[in-house]
Amino acid sequence: MARVFVITGPSGVGKGTLIRALRERIPELELSVSATTRAPRPGETDGVDYHFLSGAQFDARIAAGDFVEHASYAGHRYGTLRSELQRRLDAGAPVVLEIEVQGARQIREAMPDAVQVFIEPPSEAALRTRLIGRGTDGPEQIEARLQTARAELAAGHEFAHRVCNDRLDEAADALEAIVRAELAAA
Ligand code: 5GP
Repeated sequence: MARVFVITGPSGVGKGTLIRALRERIPELELSVSATTRAPRPGETDGVDYHFLSGAQFDARIAAGDFVEHASYAGHRYGTLRSELQRRLDAGAPVVLEIEVQGARQIREAMPDAVQVFIEPPSEAALRTRLIGRGTDGPEQIEARLQTARAELAAGHEFAHRVCNDRLDEAADALEAIVRAELAAA
């Protein structure tokens, strides 16, 4: 049976890097491409990293019931398209969603069987260092993301699985173990 894996946690915690490591280890895992209203960062491609939509396009897709979940995050909107998820599940593939906490809560309601993993940073200072270090956001965006991150960190206890991303290889080992155990049980 195909399974849905939700990887959540604050922005800058390294969800994307961990998911890349996870998919190298378990290549059958497919990543659902989200929609967002934020502008592409240098090097990001429409349809690959995100489906980049205008605010009006995003609203239209909400009205059409096209999202499994959607949320506002640091001034932009993000959502999981039902079509992205369903196409992969129909093909029998286990699917990974990389989403923030509000979206993870919606998935918990809509798909109680989805496996949810919360990625936490070793400290708030480490998160700030990473957000600054990746150089993709300006100072205002970083402060907005850190403010949201504080609330997100407090939500960690809601999640059945928690992985601390201190050392990447150890965090990837822990995440791989969770996913393999769930796939074996499915
Ligand atoms: P970024 O702008 O850094 O790509 O993403 C900002 C936050 O939005 C990250 O925490 C990311 O995981 C989250 N995000 C990305 N796609 C989705 C989505 O489809 N739904 C929700 N709820 N959050 C998402």
